[in-house]
Amino acid sequence: MKTIYLIGLLSFYLSLPLAAQDILSALVPLSHDVALGRQVSSQVEKDPSIKILSEKDYPKAYEYLRNITKNILESGQVKNAKNFPWEVKIIHDDKTLNAFCTPGGFIYVYTGLIKYLDSEDHLAGVMGHEIAHADQRHSTKQMLESQGVQMLSEMVLGKNQNAIANIAKNLLSLKFSRDDETSADKASVNYLCATIYQSDGAAGFFEKLLKQGQGSGTPAFLSTHPAPANRVATIRADAARRQCKSQTVRRANTYQQLKDSLPK
Ligand SMILES: [Zn+2]
Repeated sequence: MKTIYLIGLLSFYLSLPLAAQDILSALVPLSHDVALGRQVSSQVEKDPSIKILSEKDYPKAYEYLRNITKNILESGQVKNAKNFPWEVKIIHDDKTLNAFCTPGGFIYVYTGLIKYLDSEDHLAGVMGHEIAHADQRHSTKQMLESQGVQMLSEMVLGKNQNAIANIAKNLLSLKFSRDDETSADKASVNYLCATIYQSDGAAGFFEKLLKQGQGSGTPAFLSTHPAPANRVATIRADAARRQCKSQTVRRANTYQQLKDSLPK
């Protein structure tokens, strides 16, 4: 009965001109995001094709990324800063220029992305973008739309390992809607605006991709993040409009130290 009621409720909500965000908050509690994220992250870590960099062997790199995460969370602009655990893991894969974040804030950054970028601001911009996807619950919304409430609840309880494994796999190539991408870009500027970072950090990454291509790396981020040229202009305009008081220091030295601390 409960299932039928929920499905009925869902179609009722879907028939109303409500924002997707409202439907989501009405049907799925935030704790579901965390439970789902935990399930997905344990799948990611079980995947033999994904090599998580050991924190014991690379404490400096982890400290560096945690510090960026902390600075973003302390901007006061991340809505779910206190609701999600915001854990960071580094994936050892120099050929992939990517980062992703599960629902509930389990962040993954590839060594390929860290090595490709030139400054902490740019990495903070990309991480801000990924944090925004979780903060704004974009993948939870997608899962609700594609799987429905019932399946989502089963996954939260760990009952449907196949579906979770699929989602873990898809997260690596998950496509968000254009609106969600624009919204995550905007949020990245907004978060960074209240930190020590240059608020248009994410644009730095897209700009480098446009200028230099992706080198030997796979275009993972580009396939999930289209139209880099438009995005550079939009992010820059947004940052200028906000008149953020970010520092202009690029902290190039410490960023190089981060790169040097990674496995060669
Ligand atoms: Zn994105």
